[in-house]
Amino acid sequence: MSTGATPSPQDLENDWRLRGQLRYLKGKTWYWKKWSQSRPGWDHDHCEFCWQKFCNDNCGEGVPEGYADRSEYTWLCKKCFADFAQMFAWQVAKVDAGVRLSMVWKRLCWKVKDFVSGGFASRRARRKMKEREKGEVA
Ligand SMILES: [Zn+2]
Repeated sequence: MSTGATPSPQDLENDWRLRGQLRYLKGKTWYWKKWSQSRPGWDHDHCEFCWQKFCNDNCGEGVPEGYADRSEYTWLCKKCFADFAQMFAWQVAKVDAGVRLSMVWKRLCWKVKDFVSGGFASRRARRKMKEREKGEVA
């Protein structure tokens, strides 16, 4: 186990959690968020560095909050954020109206998509079946 102290920059360069994230996460802005489902059928996310699980309050081994990017696609745990913030030149922003709106919009989009592909299709199938039954009777 680690001592819990903040690792030195030399230690961090050889840290097991680094797997080339500098290429795509440098200078990013993060939002401290409570985890919530951001895609259909998606019940958890993982820290991009240490693989800590994020999920709802009652899911067991996961944590309910962390740093997420604007689209809630990438997540960081508190510890990894603290350890790598300097190396990656990260910033933290407050969840503003724009961010909230983009999330609401995204959820609405997949709900509509879900409805169109699932609910709508099955309803049409049911109607077809009914029509066929009627046709057979008549
Ligand atoms: Zn982590």
